Amino acid sequence: MNFSKILEKWYENNKRDLPWRESKDPYRIWVSEIILQQTRIDQGWHYYLQFLEKFPDLKALAEAEEFEVLKIWQGLGYYSRARNMHATARTIIEKHNGIFPETFEEIRKLKGIGDYTAAAISSISFGIASPVVDGNVLRLFSRFYGIFEPIDTKQGKTIILEKAKELINHEHPGNFNQAIMEFGALQCKPIPDCSICPMKSGCIAFRQKRVDGLPVKSKTIRQRTRYFHYLVIMTKKGKSYSIFLKKRTENDIWKNLFDFPLIETVNPKSPGKIMLTEEWTSVFSGIKVTRLKVSQIYRHILTHQVILAKFYQVEIPESTIFPFIKVNINDLSIYPVPKLVEKYLRNFSL
Ligand code: SF4
Repeated sequence: MNFSKILEKWYENNKRDLPWRESKDPYRIWVSEIILQQTRIDQGWHYYLQFLEKFPDLKALAEAEEFEVLKIWQGLGYYSRARNMHATARTIIEKHNGIFPETFEEIRKLKGIGDYTAAAISSISFGIASPVVDGNVLRLFSRFYGIFEPIDTKQGKTIILEKAKELINHEHPGNFNQAIMEFGALQCKPIPDCSICPMKSGCIAFRQKRVDGLPVKSKTIRQRTRYFHYLVIMTKKGKSYSIFLKKRTENDIWKNLFDFPLIETVNPKSPGKIMLTEEWTSVFSGIKVTRLKVSQIYRHILTHQVILAKFYQVEIPESTIFPFIKVNINDLSIYPVPKLVEKYLRNFSL
């Protein structure tokens, strides 16, 4: 069977009409590929349009403040993607005269761009035969060729990359790459319907009834649980309320986003115990705290972490000086915040 011909015919008949497919502009392809890493298409679509409306080209992105880029990214997660895109836009303006590099190697050198993204941009925008190997392609090839090498190992990835290099269509590499990713996403899904698959006669996993056992992975993801106790500290002046925010500057999740002063514990703790901790005492030492309201537990799941958060809403005298950022409650929406905080603020009441 001719893998490429069947694949491209299937793509022609089944491809989704997605906004970034109308373009070969490397900036737009780059934006779409970065957004779609770790993000479902239905969610990414909205972010893609919103991102391009705010930053229609490289220059607009480079001239923006990082703060504005994070605000547009709010809710998408993996915020290093946004920080890297912003830095890379500035690099292209400063070191490449504002012109997107045109070779796989030059694109691969840019911050935040790995093999997969460099292959997607160079093939779709510049017609270079560099195969993309993402999770969908790894799953499809491991099944089609009956590869039992774990796909999360260097060896497993190399075997599949070599197969992709043999198969890629040198005349239309961008179309081939998009077809193979779409086939993995829509047809050779984690639980596929092989009965309608045009590849089934050549598929080793199907012929040997081993589809359920492929792909093989060597590691299972370990998640650790973190307990967050957020201090939502408010002051009142006349009828107007302000809240103290804190910028996350440490090398941890959500770097450069804003949340509240935080007490983190390794085990669950009751509000009574939290108020006895050193952190609580050092924040509120000598300050009169009134109107304590403790939220329900908010559960937030990330790839390697589960966060169980409670929000302690307190009021303190207006004149209190804190090393945090005092923000009028009506201006809160200007700040990029993690999705967990966004969820809390949606239910927030005075
Ligand atoms: S037959 Fe099933 S396992 Fe094989 S490529 Fe098609 S969908 Fe994937």
